[in-house]
Amino acid sequence: MKQRNPKSKLLMGPGPSNPDPRVLRALSEPTLGHLDPDYVAIMDETAELLRYVFSTKNALTIAVSGTGMAGMETAMVNSLEPGDKAIICTAGAFGDRMAEVAERVGAKVVKVESPWGEPIDPEDVRKAIRKNPDAKVVGIVHGETSTGVLQPLDDIAGAVHEAGMRIIVDTVASLGGVDVPTDRLGLDVVYSGSQKCLSCPPGLAPITLGEKAVSFIENRKTTCRSWYLDLGMIRRYWSFERFYHHTGPSNMIYALNEALRIVKEEGLEARFARHKAAQEVLIKGLTELGLKPVVNEPYRLPTLTTVYVPEGVQEGEVRKQLMDEFGIEIAGGLGVFKGKIWRIGLMGTNATKANVIRLLGALKEVLK
Ligand SMILES: *Cc1c(COP(=O)(O)O)cnc(C)c1O
Repeated sequence: MKQRNPKSKLLMGPGPSNPDPRVLRALSEPTLGHLDPDYVAIMDETAELLRYVFSTKNALTIAVSGTGMAGMETAMVNSLEPGDKAIICTAGAFGDRMAEVAERVGAKVVKVESPWGEPIDPEDVRKAIRKNPDAKVVGIVHGETSTGVLQPLDDIAGAVHEAGMRIIVDTVASLGGVDVPTDRLGLDVVYSGSQKCLSCPPGLAPITLGEKAVSFIENRKTTCRSWYLDLGMIRRYWSFERFYHHTGPSNMIYALNEALRIVKEEGLEARFARHKAAQEVLIKGLTELGLKPVVNEPYRLPTLTTVYVPEGVQEGEVRKQLMDEFGIEIAGGLGVFKGKIWRIGLMGTNATKANVIRLLGALKEVLK
């Protein structure tokens, strides 16, 4: 058989990012049974480290087996019953997906929209809440990877809670790179993915639920529409009960555990500052190359920068050359931004000035 030998590349798209070498070594530690005491001790420690990155004391804080989309689906299917009304904020591809997932769960979806490249206006959310006082949840994306917008959450979370509703937040592209204030804002359900700012391979979806969200699970009238993603059962596996639900992906948990240790060693504040500093160097360099950022401050997502493709430049060709000649991956636009923008990720371990300089040098060569 032909040898399988994928080359290492610098992953500066919207994810996955390059895992830290320590994380890849952790992946190769011995596989253990899902109820092995050594393994469940590592699960417990991983949950504790997740509480640190989510800035929460929430008891129900775990990693769902699956990627970020499994996190989104878990959040929706465990927060809604068929017929419930959900207000979903969308200003990009992942907001659209949230609405679609909520609909598939059987919810009646009301959308609050903003143009791509802009944040959701809290006043629009207030209006939707006033018009739909019977809504149960409000869903919103914190770091919208399709546009590069960082959504401020303070006002919106306040309005949601005043109305007695629950807020569900997608932090797949922000957790570990930008402050996710779970407890400060009382965010009810927050989910993420392992392969973006946590610098772990794809395959796990961290999630945390506050008291109101847990009480919903305990008191729902209909059974959860998903068996595999039913947190009512999964949490019994992550608790002292160790009820068998599905085989724990032990090696992935080792990897996430190591990735979270690295986050803790660096410290959240230092990590956020590093992401911000790397983006500043990137924006300065892109501007010097004559490229215009899509998003204005203070709404720039530090972990993913969007920039317009200059007139007359073949955007796909530039990405191909960056990959073929320099081994660097960046991404093109989605939806209304298709063919019009590039998306440059600075996530986790990758968010360094050295990587930014490497990309800027390569981009300068290619654009010549
Ligand atoms: C990447 C991403 C997702 C989806 O995660 P997958 O790991 O690809 O399933 C969801 N939301 C946002 C904001 C993302 O950036």
